[in-house]
Amino acid sequence: MEGVRDPREELAELVPYDAKGIKAEVVLSANEHPSNVPTEIIDRLSERLESFDFNRYPDPTAHKLRELIATANGLDAANILVGNGGDELLFNILLAWGGPGRKLLDMPPTFSMYAIDAQVTGTEVVSIPRMPDFSVDSDAVLDRLAQGDIDIVMISHPNNPTGGLTSETLLIDVLEATDALVLVDEAYFEFSRHTMRPHMQRHPNLVILRTFSKAFSLAGLRVGYLLGHADVIREIMKVRQPYSVNAFSQWVAATVFRERVVFQQAIRELIRNRDRLLHGLSDMDGVEVFPSEANFVLFRVEYASALWRDLLHGHSVLIRDFSRAPGLEDCLRVTVGSEKECTKFLEAMREVLSARRESQIMTGVAARATEQGE
Ligand SMILES: *Cc1c(COP(=O)(O)O)cnc(C)c1O
Repeated sequence: MEGVRDPREELAELVPYDAKGIKAEVVLSANEHPSNVPTEIIDRLSERLESFDFNRYPDPTAHKLRELIATANGLDAANILVGNGGDELLFNILLAWGGPGRKLLDMPPTFSMYAIDAQVTGTEVVSIPRMPDFSVDSDAVLDRLAQGDIDIVMISHPNNPTGGLTSETLLIDVLEATDALVLVDEAYFEFSRHTMRPHMQRHPNLVILRTFSKAFSLAGLRVGYLLGHADVIREIMKVRQPYSVNAFSQWVAATVFRERVVFQQAIRELIRNRDRLLHGLSDMDGVEVFPSEANFVLFRVEYASALWRDLLHGHSVLIRDFSRAPGLEDCLRVTVGSEKECTKFLEAMREVLSARRESQIMTGVAARATEQGE
């Protein structure tokens, strides 16, 4: 027989994810940590690499890592689930709580994986757009939850890509308004230093997502985790791939977590650099900056796509262009890098902005000259 029959209809609108692998000297596009894992940790790992059992299957429940995370959060191992990056856990949540006939409440613009995972799992997406300042439309969200048919709520806290936190009062109102599973995505917790962890006891529908990809320099190893009630964690465990978190990643993540105080200084420095970016961008004419509690800054500027290209091609600085995303017209997002990278970015921004302004003035002069018949 020739050809292949169509896959599921829901996939028709989806486009496979491809980060395009654009090369640049200064990469500030993916909210990664600017530095590798500290050498003292790499040295410790290297010493034991030879005796590492590459031939053995990983521990499916990552019990060592879970124990460490549980202890640090005043919880039991039964409250922790480790995944192949936070992304896998989001997908698992949708497999367990979503699916055909079920609904996710999404608050765009936000992390795009929520809606994509919903689509892949056949979950209906109910979107309540954020306000113009990107805060959650609390009345609309609470009204919608009152209808009682939402199965999952996902809130990025702080919100990627806009940067702000949602007020704790509103998050509590959401938890009280619904028995839906409420995922508070704390992927940037180490930078925002705000967590809903204290509310877990009272709210069995609260699950918290964290990751090793941002503050702990491990984006390449894919490790994230959930904090939640044991019953909820158990349900999510039913849908997961038993060996999704490989043994090497478990080992490195456990070592990094044990040594996490070593990362504190770099985190403080990134927070300082974030404030430099916020101030530096606010000082530029025509740039509107949104407050951020994460390791990135969103800003709005005219001709955003053209500026994005000028930064890349003229200065080898790669940031993220969101200007074609709904609700993010003319918006660009820059990841907080090292002090040197932030300086390079701010200088490049000043140059591309003034070059563009000059070329506009020139165009204006030329246009007037033409009008006057010169
Ligand atoms: C980065 C990020 C994650 C998870 O990233 P992983 O690398 O898969 O752990 C989850 N949510 C948000 C909002 C993020 O920005």
